[in-house]
Amino acid sequence: MTRAVLTLNAGSSSLKVALFPEAGDLPLATGLADKVGPDGVLHLKDAAGGTIAAAGDLTTHAGAMEAAIASFRAQWPDLDLLAIGHRVVHGGADRAAPVTVDDAVLTDLERLAPFAPLHQPHNLAGIRAAIDAFPGVPQVACFDTAFHRSHPFVNDTFALPRALYDEGVRRYGFHGLSYDYIAGELARTAPHLAEGRVVVAHLGNGASMCGIQNGRSVASTMGFSALDGLPMGTRSGQVDPGVLLYLMDQKGMSAGQISDLLYKQSGLLGLSGLSNDMRTLEAANTPHAAEAIDYFVFRCQREVGALAAALGGIDALVFCGGIGENSRQVRARICERLGWMGIEIDHAKNAGNDRVISSDLARTSVLVIPTNEELVIARAARAAVGLTKEAA
Ligand code: AMP
Repeated sequence: MTRAVLTLNAGSSSLKVALFPEAGDLPLATGLADKVGPDGVLHLKDAAGGTIAAAGDLTTHAGAMEAAIASFRAQWPDLDLLAIGHRVVHGGADRAAPVTVDDAVLTDLERLAPFAPLHQPHNLAGIRAAIDAFPGVPQVACFDTAFHRSHPFVNDTFALPRALYDEGVRRYGFHGLSYDYIAGELARTAPHLAEGRVVVAHLGNGASMCGIQNGRSVASTMGFSALDGLPMGTRSGQVDPGVLLYLMDQKGMSAGQISDLLYKQSGLLGLSGLSNDMRTLEAANTPHAAEAIDYFVFRCQREVGALAAALGGIDALVFCGGIGENSRQVRARICERLGWMGIEIDHAKNAGNDRVISSDLARTSVLVIPTNEELVIARAARAAVGLTKEAA
């Protein structure tokens, strides 16, 4: 019997899947359904990177999920699916851990959809589809917000009238599954750092930073939505709210148009006029591409400083995410102006993508740790069905 747990990460037009054995860190298979809809495609790979034949109805998320499972069953005819773990963007103000989904939980998570209208409905549709397709298999929701529930009030609030805080207008923070993984890896491999003050830079198409002290999130650059903080592939990062008033009052833009501008047309794409992709910008030889990277680097430097202030100092800086794990140039440039906080990288180690890239004499360690959100979800799913002692 191949006993396994499935992880699902449902986006607006994509569905990431991974099949994990009942123990161990390596998935049996991973896959991505992209452009879910009339032009949907599904790619599945086994642990050795070999292609798993996949076909089916890719016009909906439910269809894509069933197509992936059918392909896994063809590959492992004795597959016994023990639990399904889901990435859910928003768990609300109180959920600090994964939860096994029942009707009451689902209703409560639906209530949070207005706080994350672009993501939460897709995540919940994924859960509903999984319940329909696999009745009786436990469904476990893992939240991007959960890791940040330890923030003190000053990092949890805006200076708006109190009633708005009370109805949920707060700084939730996101990318929590990634930070959870990094905190766990630090505890496992560098416990002296894990007990200290760490800034983690999750720099990918979505980008944020988190200040962690003794394994607990103290502050994050993302706030009420996944728009705040650092510039991202197509998202603006922090903007003066006065700009939004200007766009509404003077340019007559609707909420939908502003949402589109902030989420889809800004960030690296908006500044460069070329691409949301860091690799493309690094290879491009245009002044606007260079300025987009300059701005990204500058905001990263600023936010490391701000989070170090929130932590009362810094013992380690950790890079993860597609840019953080791969772009030597961006890592080196961010660290260039952080010497005043004891950060100094060893350029040979940085060029080699080593795990520790700080120089031997530097006061502050700098690490590169590939993140693994899927594994965090798989562990929670295992815990929910009693395979491990982790909470779910
Ligand atoms: P993610 O969302 O974590 O998958 O990260 C995607 C981002 O990582 C994109 O901007 C990619 O261009 C960037 N990226 C991936 N590999 C590299 C690389 N070798 N050099 C620079 N950027 C990279």
